[in-house]
Amino acid sequence: MKEIFLCKCGEIVLKGANHSFFENALIKELKFRLRSYGSFKITHAQSTIYVEPTVDVDFDAVFSALSRVFGIVTIERAAVAEKSMESIAEVTKEYIPRFLEGKKTFKVEAKRADKRFPLKSPEIAAQTGGFVLSACPRMRVNVKEPDVTVKVEVREYAAYISAGSFKGAGGMPVGTSGKGLLLLSGGIDSPVAGYMMAKRGVKIDAVHFESFPYTSERAKEKVLELARLVTRYSGSMLVHVVSLTHIQEELVKNCDEDYFTLLLRRYMMAIAEKIAKQNDCLALITGESVGQVASQTMQAIAVTDNAVSMPVFRPCIGMDKEEIIQVSRKIDTFETSILPFEDCCTVFTPKHPRTKPEIEKVLTEERKLDFDALVEEALASAEQVYIPAEV
Ligand code: ATP
Ligand code: MG
Repeated sequence: MKEIFLCKCGEIVLKGANHSFFENALIKELKFRLRSYGSFKITHAQSTIYVEPTVDVDFDAVFSALSRVFGIVTIERAAVAEKSMESIAEVTKEYIPRFLEGKKTFKVEAKRADKRFPLKSPEIAAQTGGFVLSACPRMRVNVKEPDVTVKVEVREYAAYISAGSFKGAGGMPVGTSGKGLLLLSGGIDSPVAGYMMAKRGVKIDAVHFESFPYTSERAKEKVLELARLVTRYSGSMLVHVVSLTHIQEELVKNCDEDYFTLLLRRYMMAIAEKIAKQNDCLALITGESVGQVASQTMQAIAVTDNAVSMPVFRPCIGMDKEEIIQVSRKIDTFETSILPFEDCCTVFTPKHPRTKPEIEKVLTEERKLDFDALVEEALASAEQVYIPAEV
């Protein structure tokens, strides 16, 4: 008996004339993600992608890899039968009982995509129900609230029999929405922000700001580890590591302490925008959330935004910390994020940061330094680290 995965495409089905662009991107990504798990025949028809192992594979490992691929809403593990009720009977009796262990009730849903098949869907469902009962006589049919739903789909080349579908990663295939530059700190929020934009099909590059020797080599390693964890969803990532040490020292020497964080954030944005432009990124991405800290009040965010002209995406903006943590646990970045290393934002923090800054006052402070020259100097210090996609 042959088992395969049926991956149902999500939103990309709605893309009309463009849908083959999205489907091809998804298939390319699937091929890439599965290449170390064996050999597969990947085909698609009627908004479903068929992933058929051509050698023995570890089904659980393949399932786990598939569940991180954006663009797939549900994943079904199914057995393949020939397009006859005899074959459907044989496969149902052999394949389905394992999914009914410890369960009491079931129903069968049938779909006949191939209208040439002689039986209609209700008849296929009724007969298949009989096959299930003959293999597992203690089971009862319950069409309203079954413990298990057995599905039979008669499609172009074969019939597929499954018992239960699993949630896929959702979203859009990575790379179908262009590229964005993620400002990646060692915190909880920014890896989540990167994941959320990757989910919408955005390819991610990242910039991390360090402040060596005030921040340590291990703090940087932690951020690169976070980047690696995000690549399990987003694909490979180029991380630009930029030193803010000189800028921070100049701020401390010359500017009003209350404005340190805001001024530093404006430098970060300006540097990030330059890196973004050099690397074909169309937007900046941050993990900010309204009101979370002093630099994330509406007024402070306006001051930060004013440093750049590129769109800034903040996917966590309306989320509570608890909600962000939930996502970070789901994508496995939480445990790394909470490792206690300093961030450049946490060295030289003002005692009384301005929460309702006025842009004119910020600019007055900013003009005390040669902003452009410091930005250029920081850019010249940038080091690039390529993080291959973890599959
Ligand atoms: P957490 O509250 O979990 O520490 P955070 O690091 O996201 O999250 P902030 O320090 O307030 O919180 O930073 C807000 C945003 O600014 C971050 O989400 C990130 O996008 C960006 N950022 C902060 N520090 C850095 C850094 N050192 N390098 C790159 N981006 C940074
Ligand atoms: Mg932080």
